[in-house]
Amino acid sequence: MKRIAVLTSGGDAPGMNAAIRAVVRTGLSRGWEVFGVQHGYAGLMSGNIRSMGLRDVGGIIQQGGTVLGSARAPEFKTLEGRTKALRELRQREIEGLVVIGGNGSQTGANAIFEMDFPVVGVASTIDNDLYGSEITIGVDTALNIALEAIDRLKITASSHQRAFLIEVMGRDCGYLALMSGIAGGAESIVIPEVPTEPEAIAEELHAAYERGKAHAIIVVAEGAKYNAEALIKYFKEHQATLGFEIRASILGHIQRGGMPGAFDRLLATRFGAAAVACLERGEHGVLVGLNKNEITTTPLSVVVSSKKNLNLDLLQLAKELAQ
Ligand code: ADP
Repeated sequence: MKRIAVLTSGGDAPGMNAAIRAVVRTGLSRGWEVFGVQHGYAGLMSGNIRSMGLRDVGGIIQQGGTVLGSARAPEFKTLEGRTKALRELRQREIEGLVVIGGNGSQTGANAIFEMDFPVVGVASTIDNDLYGSEITIGVDTALNIALEAIDRLKITASSHQRAFLIEVMGRDCGYLALMSGIAGGAESIVIPEVPTEPEAIAEELHAAYERGKAHAIIVVAEGAKYNAEALIKYFKEHQATLGFEIRASILGHIQRGGMPGAFDRLLATRFGAAAVACLERGEHGVLVGLNKNEITTTPLSVVVSSKKNLNLDLLQLAKELAQ
């Protein structure tokens, strides 16, 4: 019998629970013992680890967030912290670990793989900035939440002939802003990958006003040089040149908390099951992801040293469609 553990780390993402459930149930169905680690690497270092049964993951597939809890644990970046964590795992004779999380979490996973511990990563972050998976757990749900907000704000914007600045999450990655902007029919999209000066956005707004638009929606990524706060400050000072009166809305953590949609539940379920299959066949130090609609594995060393590129052709398309 094999003994494995699962943890969720870093930013929570809708669908993490479906991945936990899949790891626990596919592990148990092999006759293995499966442990859940509370609060990510923090719980690993403090030994907050418990055996999980079939019923422990009942009724969680539809819940956002993570029943195991997540945390940011800076101590895990130190050799001392990781040694402590490995001691906790070895004491319990745990032979494999599944790490569900984003860039930072997979860097941590790679670090313990390099210390000879069998680990498999599962690609999970709403930012979609993780190399090795075209789409990650939580992106689709977060995107739909952002989109619903954009649709709603567009209605009120149109009623008052206003411009609305909507800031979405994504850290340094513009994926959520770009995709929600296109799907929501934004007049302007501001992402970190393409530095944009406020003057250029003001011109776009003014042009939209001149074309007789009833509203203007600007979707801004939180990681852009000029985020919502910086842009609103600029626009307040240059109100007269815009045409539209402007309002801002920062969506923030609302994007994280949603009930996972069908896509994320299925993706997370497939990822969790695939991670257990990796541990079974001894394929360690890899990230389970989705590429060209197939479940794939990519070495964690490659994942953490590579940057995922955003398809910037889509930004050009968004500009054409905004006319
Ligand atoms: P995410 O996984 O969502 O990108 P973070 O970047 O906050 O989230 O990382 C989550 C956790 O992963 C950190 O709190 C830390 O415990 C661990 N981690 C991040 N970077 C490293 C690193 N370079 N080495 C070891 N562990 C790391």
